[in-house]
Amino acid sequence: MVADRWANSDSGHIFYWAWARPELGSEAAHQLQGLISMLEDWNGSTDADVWKWNHDPDGNFSVSNVKKLLGSVDRNRPERVFEWNNWVPKKVGIVAWRAEMERLPTKCALARRNVPVPNQLCVLCGEYVETSEHVFVSCHFAQTLWQNVAGWCKIPPVIAFGIGDLLKLHESSSGSRKVRKVIHALVLVTFWSIWKTRNEVVFRQVNANTTRSLDEIKSVTYLWVKSRAKVAALSWEDWSRFSLGVL
Ligand SMILES: [Zn+2]
Repeated sequence: MVADRWANSDSGHIFYWAWARPELGSEAAHQLQGLISMLEDWNGSTDADVWKWNHDPDGNFSVSNVKKLLGSVDRNRPERVFEWNNWVPKKVGIVAWRAEMERLPTKCALARRNVPVPNQLCVLCGEYVETSEHVFVSCHFAQTLWQNVAGWCKIPPVIAFGIGDLLKLHESSSGSRKVRKVIHALVLVTFWSIWKTRNEVVFRQVNANTTRSLDEIKSVTYLWVKSRAKVAALSWEDWSRFSLGVL
């Protein structure tokens, strides 16, 4: 509680810190100084704590208020907006969406947030530090999987320098709009599959296997696309050959 860390005295406020970590980095120490100077003119009360939202005169928070606030400021349009695909479940797209923003709990991301990790090495290759970029783009596990997916759906070998390149793969591929949408779905499912495999290695000590992952990517994407794109005539045989004439 705030009350446990602070008291008023004749000479001003006295703070009773109890840090979980002994060393404050220079940035944290700087922020602490800023906090203390903000508190100089502040007189605490013993009332119960309440949440207040600064952008409403009464301090009440509402979504409509946020919407109004956002509408009133000029915001830069992001260079690229994540493209969703309704032929795969939301949870699948969310992995790629988070990966692109570096918001997946990779070992490096956890270490950045001061979560203790025994080491930061990728669990799929054990050679490089585990960032999103590494796991999905440069790790040899991902590289093999991308080339196998590309070979199966008859697109040129994947050359990707970043996550964004993978998410744009379908844009440059030939074929109808629907075939491109299937390729986009496969890209999202591959992201999801890589992350799932990575978690199975970490939490269930399973051995990663690109052949098994590719089989899973093919079969789950088949089920999802067949039902969500409503193409009952899409047979497993055609799908296995990536012959999508029925779309
Ligand atoms: Zn790796």
